[in-house]
Amino acid sequence: MAHKKPHLPEKNCQHCGRPFSWRKKWRSVWTEVRYCSERCRRSKNNTPKNLCAASMVEDEF
Ligand SMILES: [Zn+2]
Repeated sequence: MAHKKPHLPEKNCQHCGRPFSWRKKWRSVWTEVRYCSERCRRSKNNTPKNLCAASMVEDEF
């Protein structure tokens, strides 16, 4: 008999585009998780100045 692999939900990181799997620490926030790691999450905040201006425009919607 083959080993039964747990089937975990997956998402693609919005920063690096890599797929990542559900983790225990995300069990309560999985729907809100968008990045595979803390590093990707932080690099989203380090946006270049011109992108910051663009995001301010988005805030008006
Ligand atoms: Zn990532």
